[in-house]
Amino acid sequence: MSATAARPFLAADLYGFADLLTDAERAALLRLRRVVDEHVRPVLAESWDRAEFPTGIEAPLIDAAMMDPAEVAAAGQEPSALYAGFRTFELARADASVLTWYNAQAGLFRTTVAYGADADQAAELDARIRDFSWRGVFALTEPDHGSDIAGGLATTARRDPATGRWTLDGDKRWIGGAGQADVMAVFARDADDGEVKCFLVPTDAPGVELGLIRGKASLRIMQNYDIRLDGVVVDEADRLPNINTWTDVAACLRRMRADVAWSAAGVAAGAYEAALDYVCRREQFGRPLASFALIQEKLAHMLGNVTASLGLVVRLSQRQAEGIYRDEDSSLAKMHTARTLRETTALAREVVGGNGIVIAHDVARFHADAEAIYSYEGTHEINALVVGRAITGIAAFR
Ligand SMILES: Cc1cc2nc3c(=O)[nH]c(=O)nc-3n(C[C@H](O)[C@H](O)[C@H](O)COP(=O)(O)OP(=O)(O)OC[C@H]3O[C@@H](n4cnc5c(N)ncnc54)[C@H](O)[C@@H]3O)c2cc1C
Repeated sequence: MSATAARPFLAADLYGFADLLTDAERAALLRLRRVVDEHVRPVLAESWDRAEFPTGIEAPLIDAAMMDPAEVAAAGQEPSALYAGFRTFELARADASVLTWYNAQAGLFRTTVAYGADADQAAELDARIRDFSWRGVFALTEPDHGSDIAGGLATTARRDPATGRWTLDGDKRWIGGAGQADVMAVFARDADDGEVKCFLVPTDAPGVELGLIRGKASLRIMQNYDIRLDGVVVDEADRLPNINTWTDVAACLRRMRADVAWSAAGVAAGAYEAALDYVCRREQFGRPLASFALIQEKLAHMLGNVTASLGLVVRLSQRQAEGIYRDEDSSLAKMHTARTLRETTALAREVVGGNGIVIAHDVARFHADAEAIYSYEGTHEINALVVGRAITGIAAFR
C-alpha cells in the first residue's frame, strides 16, 4: 500500500470538503480509488514515456460504472454534482490524461448531448453514454481558431433543401479521444443563418479523416487528433436540435469549465501527495527532507493552493446544482485553479530534486500535464476576459 493510500479519505482535503458527500458517494469514490490504484497507477509512467494510451485500463474504469455508481443507486440516491466533481478530482489526482480521456465521454460529450438533444433522444442516448457502449468526443476547436472560436468558427454546414440533409466541410484540431470514439459532436456554422450548430458525426463516416497529433510534451498519454471533414453528409436527425446559436455552445462550456477546474484541483492534489510522500521517505543531512523548515513551507504552500481550489470548485458545483450557471463563475474557477496548479506542480517537482524530472516519481508528469490544463477549455487570458467582462460590463474581446 502506498503512503498516500494509508492516509484518511482524501489526504489533500484538509478542510474535509468530502464530508459534504453522502456515505454512498464516498463509498463509490473509494471503490474508484481502488480500481485506479490497481489498474491505472502501475502503467502510468511507461505509458507517458511511450506517449501511448494504455487500453488495458479502459475495461476496469468502464466496468466501475462511475457515472452511475451502484452504491449511490442502492441508497436510493442520484449522483450529485458534488459527487461528479469529486470523481473528476479522484481520477485527476492519479493522472490528468486518464481523467481527460474519461471526461471526454463523461463531461464534454455527455454534457453536449444532455444539453443539445431533445428530452426523449437525451434519455435514450445518455444510457449508452454512461455505459460507454456509444463513445463520443467534442469537436469545437479548429487549426485557425482556438480562443476566437465563437466568432471565427469556419467549419461550414450546408443544408440541402430537397433532402434536408447537411454537408459539413472544415478542419478540427486537438480533438481528444477521437481515434477511439464512435461519434464526434462537431460544431459547424450554418451557411444560411450564420449560427453555430452541432452534428453527431460517426468517426468512420465517408469524408472524415483523423490524424494523431504526435510529439506532445504535456498529456502525453491522452491521444489528440486533427480532423478533416470533406463533404461529410449527415441527416437532420443527427443534428442536436437544442444547439442553435453560440449562446447554446457557451451554456455547455460553462459546465465543462467547471469540470476542468475540478481536474486542476485534482492534479494539484496528486502532485502535492506525491511530493509529500517523497519528502517523508528521502533523507539528506541524516534527516528526512520533510523535517526541513523550507520544505515544510513549500508543502504548506501547496496544500494552501489545493485547499483554496477545492473551496472554489465545491461552491461552484453547489451553485450549479442550485441552477446558477454564470459564465464568470466557471471561468473564475478554471482560471484560478489552473494558475495555482502550475505553481503547485512546480513546487512539487522542486522538492523532489533531481528525481523530480524522472517520470517514475510522478511529479514530473503532473508538472508537464499542468501546461495542457492551463491552456485548454479557455486559456488563462480568455477566462480572465470573461470574468473581466462580467465585473466591468465592458467586453475586451468578441
Ligand atoms: C491537450 C489539449 C486537449 C484539447 N482537447 C480539445 C477537445 O477535445 N476538443 C476541442 O474542441 N478542443 C480541445 N482543445 C483545444 C483548446 O480548447 C484550445 O487549445 C484552447 O481553446 C486555446 O486555443 P489555442 O490553442 O488555439 O490558442 P490561441 O487561441 O492561439 O492562443 C494563444 C495565446 O494567445 C492568447 N490570446 C488569444 N486571444 C487573446 C486575447 N484576445 N487577449 C489576450 N490573449 C489572447 C491565449 O490566451 C494564449 O495564451 C484541446 C487543447 C489541448 C492543448
